[in-house]
Amino acid sequence: MSSRPRICLRRRRFLKQLGLAGLVSSFPGVLSAFANAVPSPSSLVRQAAVKNRTPFAQSKFYPLPLGAVRPAGWLQAQLKIQAAGLGGHLDETWADVGPNSGWLGGTGESWERGPYFLDGLVPLAYLLDDERLKAKAQKYIDWTLNHQDSNGMFGPRSNDDWWPRMVMLKVLTQYHEATGDPRVIPAMQRYFEYQIAELPKRGLRDWGKFRWQDEALSVIWLYNRTGNAKLLDLLQLLHAQGYDWLTEYANFPYKERITAERIKLLEGGGLKDLALATHGVNNGQAVKAGPVWSLVSGSEADRRGGMRMIAELDQYHGLPNGMFSCDEHLAGPNPSQGSELCTVVEYMFSLEQSLGILGDPALGDRLERLAFNALPGALTDDMWAHQYDQEPNQVECSLHREPWTTNGPESNLFGLEPNFGCCTANFHQGWPKFAASLLMLSQDDGVVAAAYAPCEASTMVRDTPVHVAVETSYPFRGMVRMGVNPAAPLKFPLLLRIPAWAAGTSVKVNSEAQSVPSPGTFARIERTWKAGDRVEVEFPLEPRVSQWFHDSVAVERGALVFSYGIGEDWLKLRDRGMTADWQVYPTTQWNYALALDAASASHDVRAVDTEVSDRPFSAKGAPVALHVKGRKLPAWEAENGVADPVPQSPVTSDQPEETIALIPYAAAKLRITAFPSLKT
Ligand SMILES: [Zn+2]
Repeated sequence: MSSRPRICLRRRRFLKQLGLAGLVSSFPGVLSAFANAVPSPSSLVRQAAVKNRTPFAQSKFYPLPLGAVRPAGWLQAQLKIQAAGLGGHLDETWADVGPNSGWLGGTGESWERGPYFLDGLVPLAYLLDDERLKAKAQKYIDWTLNHQDSNGMFGPRSNDDWWPRMVMLKVLTQYHEATGDPRVIPAMQRYFEYQIAELPKRGLRDWGKFRWQDEALSVIWLYNRTGNAKLLDLLQLLHAQGYDWLTEYANFPYKERITAERIKLLEGGGLKDLALATHGVNNGQAVKAGPVWSLVSGSEADRRGGMRMIAELDQYHGLPNGMFSCDEHLAGPNPSQGSELCTVVEYMFSLEQSLGILGDPALGDRLERLAFNALPGALTDDMWAHQYDQEPNQVECSLHREPWTTNGPESNLFGLEPNFGCCTANFHQGWPKFAASLLMLSQDDGVVAAAYAPCEASTMVRDTPVHVAVETSYPFRGMVRMGVNPAAPLKFPLLLRIPAWAAGTSVKVNSEAQSVPSPGTFARIERTWKAGDRVEVEFPLEPRVSQWFHDSVAVERGALVFSYGIGEDWLKLRDRGMTADWQVYPTTQWNYALALDAASASHDVRAVDTEVSDRPFSAKGAPVALHVKGRKLPAWEAENGVADPVPQSPVTSDQPEETIALIPYAAAKLRITAFPSLKT
């Protein structure tokens, strides 16, 4: 406690150095948040982006090190909900990451679950500057770093699989960015040298073979910091032994819903390549394979590979929540199919990395679609329970076998570990990594607004400290206010992502209107920035109608997808330590067809905005509703808890016309998202 006043003084001095002290009165909201998170001058060095070293190709944008971008506003509240829920307590109630974890030297779970949990816990702890969570994470990290074999191998001795170590490497890179712990880089170097010697004898197999690009990211991270040429050899080994995703997607063979027979799941003999190639999480992780490898190969075809994968997944398995179906193998475009939560967070991580490498604004659009819809959609409002599989048309969450390709009957329950415990350990990375990725540095030393949510960043632009604060209720509102504050006047570009849906966006700098930016681009404002400069971006949030399976329609506004919220009856199935497993049954009818088609103008949809609460993804706290007209369609029914495939549109109905309210997708845990369209 006694050190607190000194810290405040130091922060005040630092604010002065930045030339920001005078701004406190004119910009109180931002600066009070900023003053709480001002880094010490020495840590500023760590907040500079690290660019690619020769011989790697340059990335368009570089992520800022963990801790440089911090959440504010509703996003900070969301991370605090996560910390107060399973995210900050999982080890206290789930033995797989508890005191007997193999990653603490125990005899318990010794595979992926410890590293998965840490991959979210580390960024959560450091973005919230939460000492309790940092101390939790430190135990696993200290055990890992302090028990490395003399040959370089690390992790539980009982399990020599390369795959869980790929996750732990991601943990160590984030931890190093946040702390500068001098043990990390030598430990990674020793492990990689061990792998260079071992991989020719004991190569990548199953999960590690299909997820090699995730390790490649950590090898690239280390090479950029050390320049050790041996790491280039390791990259070649990983690529040579890893699955060739780009060749598969050049002639994509998996265009229909996968069956257990097709991938020979029932034939025994271990995991088959067919099963792994059609596995949702593997595909979500692989979206970055082409972009990541393009840094090494310099190949334009590799760069384009990620966009090609997304296009194929959208065409044959795309769903309105931004996901592809995977329950847990690729499952076709029917909105009653599910998507696994691990795939949501891994797809997000792939998009964050690919957006940096490629600089394609469409990747930012997709990232927001997942972050604001699919991610919170699979989590209860308090983040104490999650689903394994979520469905866009989800009319009941109960024990049922259908419609999953290969998953079990618990798949869409909300609970501790429905179906299988991977998502229990892995979902924690979703929100924190999204927060850390909102602002980036461009190749030519500009500040990039890659995605939008309230946050602030302290970083370095060409050796000058720059602070950027983003005040907004986006995606619930269209106004984004940014304060750009360099420590000294400095010329650099500010790049603003203009989403593809955002025609008519207005941009002002210090109240002066700028030229109207084109949607689907990065608007570039190059000027000499000085402390106190303010940028206002106003995105027009006109409702839109998009078209899906059987010509069904979904209603969107900005980055949010909207659903009809079915009445919910939550029935506890059983207690699970500090949490519980739940079934959710519908209490109202849901089978509406809408008086909308894909060409409908926005006048068919009436938006009602209400206050943006600290739980904007809950039904009670939903900050916006869209009112539309529709009629019930009695022929559209559910069987065994699953909505029949949405009927082919257009449809007719003799039922009376009603006005119904649609709420954000994630706020409706039972929902219809893809509706039949009424014949006009
Ligand atoms: Zn999972």
